Amino acid sequence: MRIVKTVSEISTFLNEFRANGKSIGFVPTMGALHPGHISLITQSKLDNDITSCSIFVNPIQFNNPNDLEHYPRTLDDDILKLKDAGCSLVFCPDVTEMYPEPVTEKYDFGHLDKVLEGEFRPGHFNGVAVVVHRLFKIFNPHRAYFGLKDYQQLRIIQTLTHQLQLPIQIVACPTYRENDGLAMSSRNVRLSEANRKMAPMIFKTLNEVKNRTGYGEISEVEAHATKQLNNIVGFKVEYLKIVDAETLLPVANWTQAGSLIVCTAVFAGNVRLIDNLILF
Ligand code: AMP
Repeated sequence: MRIVKTVSEISTFLNEFRANGKSIGFVPTMGALHPGHISLITQSKLDNDITSCSIFVNPIQFNNPNDLEHYPRTLDDDILKLKDAGCSLVFCPDVTEMYPEPVTEKYDFGHLDKVLEGEFRPGHFNGVAVVVHRLFKIFNPHRAYFGLKDYQQLRIIQTLTHQLQLPIQIVACPTYRENDGLAMSSRNVRLSEANRKMAPMIFKTLNEVKNRTGYGEISEVEAHATKQLNNIVGFKVEYLKIVDAETLLPVANWTQAGSLIVCTAVFAGNVRLIDNLILF
């Protein structure tokens, strides 16, 4: 596996494969890799001749400096995991390699980056779009892999690719979970023992919402689920919403959209966890 830190090395490496008609898969990450990330690498390996990955903790997508400061960084371990998974190339740039000049790009996603996460993390999705677009230009992959775990991010990337007519297939990969249902996340290692024990309640509650699909008022189902999670000591729901899975806008009733999703963000102590479940 090639480990590179500069943009020019990526082009040199990938151009040769591209010229030989090989397909390139790309998995952008912020490192602290867990089996959820590796499942994206595995899917890319199945679909492409070459699988590449980036590890970059993108400062401009953190609206909370404390979260950025405490974001886990385990580069040596990540590299071993990527080697084991059969990744061919990993890009681990410094901040100055990605952002040699002050960032000025502004994307317009309409309401898509203002609801759910966007309401509580202003500027977050613009930061995501900036880094992903730059990485897309650097790697120029045939396919790029994103987890359904970050559903709104996936919708933003799909929209970005569509708006800019980028010739990249965006592949959505299922959320990889611990045996007890907790969605794998790099932030899980920061959970206290007590909060880790209770964290599977998030997915359990989302499943209960799914079981109530079509019954009663949507607002009541949301309120009941929110209350159940808020009743756990140390847990605080930031949002729990049932929305149109395409637009991410609220719906007035269960039949208003072709597909619904329940999305939530919950503080377990000072660790912010997100999860979601497609209802239909
Ligand atoms: P991150 O390093 O958190 O930016 O995540 C990099 C990619 O891995 C994103 O596309 C995430 O959606 C995806 N990802 C993170 N956690 C999981 C998971 N538990 N299951 C599937 N994909 C995931």
